[in-house]
Amino acid sequence: MRKNTHYFLLALFSSIILGCSDDSDSYQPNYLPSIDATALPDGNHPMAMFEDDEDPSIMYNKADRWFRVNEPFQVIQKGKDSVQVSLYSPVGLTNVKVYAKLPNYDKRFLIYSFSKVPAFHRSFHKLPLTEQKNDYLLETGNTVTIDKIEGFSSGAIEFSVESDDPLFQKFKKIKSTHLVQFNDGYHINEYGKFLPMNPALAKEAITMIINYSYALSHPLYYDTFTNFDRYKQEQATTAGTEINGALNWHGNADDVDGVYDYYSKEEIEKIYWNYLDKRTLWMAMVGGDSAWGGGNLASQWESGYVTGHWVGEMSVWSHEYSHHIGFSHSSNLANSGEGGGQQEMLTHFYKYLIYLNDLPFTDPEVLKTYAKTSYVTGTYKKPVFTINPKNPFLLKYKGEGKWN
Ligand SMILES: [Zn+2]
Repeated sequence: MRKNTHYFLLALFSSIILGCSDDSDSYQPNYLPSIDATALPDGNHPMAMFEDDEDPSIMYNKADRWFRVNEPFQVIQKGKDSVQVSLYSPVGLTNVKVYAKLPNYDKRFLIYSFSKVPAFHRSFHKLPLTEQKNDYLLETGNTVTIDKIEGFSSGAIEFSVESDDPLFQKFKKIKSTHLVQFNDGYHINEYGKFLPMNPALAKEAITMIINYSYALSHPLYYDTFTNFDRYKQEQATTAGTEINGALNWHGNADDVDGVYDYYSKEEIEKIYWNYLDKRTLWMAMVGGDSAWGGGNLASQWESGYVTGHWVGEMSVWSHEYSHHIGFSHSSNLANSGEGGGQQEMLTHFYKYLIYLNDLPFTDPEVLKTYAKTSYVTGTYKKPVFTINPKNPFLLKYKGEGKWN
């Protein structure tokens, strides 16, 4: 039994009594059991999102299907007493711990512990706080006992997720907070210029955007982006030539006789973070003559989604994403001309990360979309990655530079 139990009052929505046994040695806490999300009862409504034969109108429902690229494991309160958990990842996770923080109580405590979560999983779970008095493990390792609380207004509980799964450790490094959705407006309004996607392609798009967001967040990329003049100089030195085109990043003003509107160091730093900010991205698929990007839109060919990104062919995506960030063809942040800009550099870098096995996902077998003939219109083979021995990142870093 508890010896040194003391109680304190939390003014939440009603008065809440916390029985706090932080300082008790003899109390034997009775924690909630861990949850295997691969074997949930029907009451949790478990499902796999983006099943190949799922109605595409579901993936285009922007209220239902959205995630931030740095939070592929998503916890959202539903109603006063439940949560929805969703994993936007083609590979499952193990040992996922969801912590809750209540207003007016400064310690986080473990509310759900998932032993396994399968790929693209979704399920619903009652908040144990609303069911009965329970013991919870605090992040400090101590125990808190919380009496039953009738319900919570949405947003009252802050959830945070931890896991020692190596894949989750990669997710945690993603600094971009872009919100990803699919938008059917493009192919509905301009059919042919854009084409409808399906869940099989959406899974590839999600895999690609997580990898790409990781690449943009990578310390080597930050170092190269914020020292692009050095990268250009090194490329010229290696090739034994003069620097071709612009020396550094420049803006959307047209070049006049080789006079570029170069950005300052401070502006370049700010632009880097624009690529990683919290704006909304609508991923779409190209059908016509060229890919498009701008505003929320960035689009990609079917082949880019199915096989291209697995072998690092990210030039088109980098270009359209730069339009989405706000750059036009007169800037080398979008344009590949004038000696190469971000498109070329990002593509070399992305391939180097595949070579290092330093992306969240490097195995096309996790989705095998190339073999799904009913869901793709092109003819594909299994993508096989090779690195060009003249890759500038390979030449410079020689296998080093992996992010821990
Ligand atoms: Zn363009």
